[in-house]
Amino acid sequence: MTRITGIRTIRTRSDGSWLIVKVLTDQPGLYGIGSASDYYQREAVEAVITHNLAPLVTGRDASAIEDIWQSIYTSGYWRNGSILNTALAGIDMALWDIKGKEAGMPVYQLLGGACHQAVLAYAHAGGRDTAELIDDVRRYQAEGYQVIRCQYAQYGGGGFLSSAQARTPRGYAPKQVFDDEAYLEKVLAMFEALRTALGNQPKLTHDVHEHLRPQNAVRLAKLLEPYNLFFLEDVLPPEQIAWFELIRQQCATPQAMGELFVNPQEWLPLVTGRLIDYLRVRVSKAGGITPCRKLAAICEAFGVHTAWQEGGDNDPVNQVAAMHLDMNSWAMGVQEENHFAPQELEAFPGHAELTGGYLYLSGKPGLGIDIDEARAEALLDPERARIRHFAAEDRRADGTIVRP
Ligand code: MG
Repeated sequence: MTRITGIRTIRTRSDGSWLIVKVLTDQPGLYGIGSASDYYQREAVEAVITHNLAPLVTGRDASAIEDIWQSIYTSGYWRNGSILNTALAGIDMALWDIKGKEAGMPVYQLLGGACHQAVLAYAHAGGRDTAELIDDVRRYQAEGYQVIRCQYAQYGGGGFLSSAQARTPRGYAPKQVFDDEAYLEKVLAMFEALRTALGNQPKLTHDVHEHLRPQNAVRLAKLLEPYNLFFLEDVLPPEQIAWFELIRQQCATPQAMGELFVNPQEWLPLVTGRLIDYLRVRVSKAGGITPCRKLAAICEAFGVHTAWQEGGDNDPVNQVAAMHLDMNSWAMGVQEENHFAPQELEAFPGHAELTGGYLYLSGKPGLGIDIDEARAEALLDPERARIRHFAAEDRRADGTIVRP
């Protein structure tokens, strides 16, 4: 039997936002790593691992992944919160890594083997204006990408007005405010320009970041129908998912949703009701590989695809965990690209390779990725790591917060 002898956490990236979990065992040289990164509540996740979960699982049989997952899941009585799920995911991924190393197989082989040659990845194109955006899309096309997300200025699709344009109340003059109608106008014009310049060939997506009022989300999905999107992402906030039924009744624009989901009851009705087309849960926010392989199986049964969330703040370990699920799942649709600097990847030997619009695993046993702790430590800038981060606080003209 392989026993868990302890759990360590390693903080890295220059801003300290990546948290890698290392599960140690009583077998010489055998350990596993997992991702427990949370950009906003990093210390809370680390504290749960160190003070609550490490004492719970130390001494247990490392091979009993399912049992350990179930045990941690209810260990705090309340469950399905983002902090516990992230902490749980870090340990869960590490246990799969250990099992794969013991078997001498990559994790996707343990899950049943590969059913694709590689993982289709989608790119993030952006630009300050339409001309820049079209150039960026063309650059990604030249690199081989088939699916490309189109946004203005990284985060958004437009819809921001100056205080003067928006007519804010007296004494209230923020730099910019969010306006639903301006957003709709901008995004429709963006897709008109993209299709005129690029034709119908590139598969294009757009991420709304949940900013719209639900009735405007329905309008946007309907008005975008002629532009033939690969998917429209997060058109509704998680609190308003019942509106997907109306969207479905009114148009055939494919829907992607789920990066904010932490509770299975959030995605289950959308999948079983066939109300979305791509489920975009972040593997670490759902609690790791153990729950996500079940999620993928449910998606397969209902004809829904997975598009595990990656993008900006994810780490290279969460990326490969999602890829092992992708390689094994027939329901895999596409995976989001990440943005890693070369020196960041050097700290993770065996990291995934992204080329020609496809992601490739290292092929090594377990997750196939390791952490070079000296390099990981060298990445960390203690000054930057002290800065607190909060999700963007966009507001409407009257000062009301827009939920991200
Ligand atoms: Mg998104």
